[in-house]
Amino acid sequence: MTKFLFVTDLDHTFVGDDQALLELSDRLQRHRAEYGTKIVYSTGRSPTLYQELQLQKNLFSPDALVLSVGTEIYLDGSNNPDPQWSSILSQGWDSQKILSITEQFPELVLQPDTEQRPFKVSFFLKAELSGILPQLESELQKTKLNIKLIYSSGIDLDILPLTSDKGQAMQFLRQKWEFAAEQTVVCGDSGNDIALFAVGRERGIIVGNARPELIQWHNQNPADYRYLAQNRCAAGIMEGLTYFGFLE
Ligand SMILES: [Mg+2]
Repeated sequence: MTKFLFVTDLDHTFVGDDQALLELSDRLQRHRAEYGTKIVYSTGRSPTLYQELQLQKNLFSPDALVLSVGTEIYLDGSNNPDPQWSSILSQGWDSQKILSITEQFPELVLQPDTEQRPFKVSFFLKAELSGILPQLESELQKTKLNIKLIYSSGIDLDILPLTSDKGQAMQFLRQKWEFAAEQTVVCGDSGNDIALFAVGRERGIIVGNARPELIQWHNQNPADYRYLAQNRCAAGIMEGLTYFGFLE
């Protein structure tokens, strides 16, 4: 056994099967103590919503926390986002300009204040109204900002800096800690996790309960370094970690 970089989405991936979560948490913490494995939670949740989940499920402390869809990285339990990452994201970002466009679309419902972050503007957009996305995208492009749209789970629309997503945040940490792609494993279940799987040749685990948008993407982009698990959530992760030889 050797150390690896473990990066996981939380909702419906790491979290969702309490029994399996306990077992996986225990195995990962032992691996970290024994081999120096690094553990990263990567979630669309804001700090407020992460803290709720952390308390509710008694999640152990990771080595880094990637919040708000990759726009904030917290290292070693710090309460302040990593300034190096923030400065990368700040180029070509202007949330006021974004809001001046989005307010012309009544289909977009702003998410609560806690979900509006320094580098993320978030809306609810019902799946049946998502046909507006191409038009919204073309209006936003006219601003010449460096931004992108991520639509996830048939309800969440995030507007983010172009240089930010779970995948690029993961690679920032991977390079910082000097892990090869082959020593890195990423896990997810939904649309905003595609960035984790698509960015490079990191080992990927798609849990058995993954959403249709991710399964569809996987079927269209098959790769031998990606594994579609049979089992749900943390049980699917353990299945994948065993498949790749990271766990016995
Ligand atoms: Mg998820």
